Amino acid sequence: MTVPYSRIVTEKQKGVPPAMDCERAEKLIQPYVQDKMPENEMEEFITHVRNCPDCYDELETYFIIRQAARYLDDDDRQSYNLRGLLAQDLREKERRIQRKKRRNVFFTVLILVLAVLLIVFTLHYLDFVEIPWLKGFF
Ligand SMILES: [Zn+2]
Repeated sequence: MTVPYSRIVTEKQKGVPPAMDCERAEKLIQPYVQDKMPENEMEEFITHVRNCPDCYDELETYFIIRQAARYLDDDDRQSYNLRGLLAQDLREKERRIQRKKRRNVFFTVLILVLAVLLIVFTLHYLDFVEIPWLKGFF
């Protein structure tokens, strides 16, 4: 579920806790940078930092420090564009969330279809409905 930042602000003004506030987002900056982010919070976190310049700056600072350390360690010259890397990293994690969501939708549909088939077979078996193309099987 994504909450537009404008709504977060309005809710804040009304004193209602928003989906994710800056305090929570700040706590998740380290786990994000260290790739230890709890998956169920990833999407809200990304939505928050996308819409909150303060948290984005802070995340970027930690991210760059982390990447810079890696850069010095690894000879990984891809890390050269450090600022661009965070944007790229956010996009990749977002894509991963989307893929997982699509997979969940697929399995939900699959289970629904199987459930419907099971019900139809059962009804046919109990002679409640007649399905001509099933006659050969039962
Ligand atoms: Zn924030």
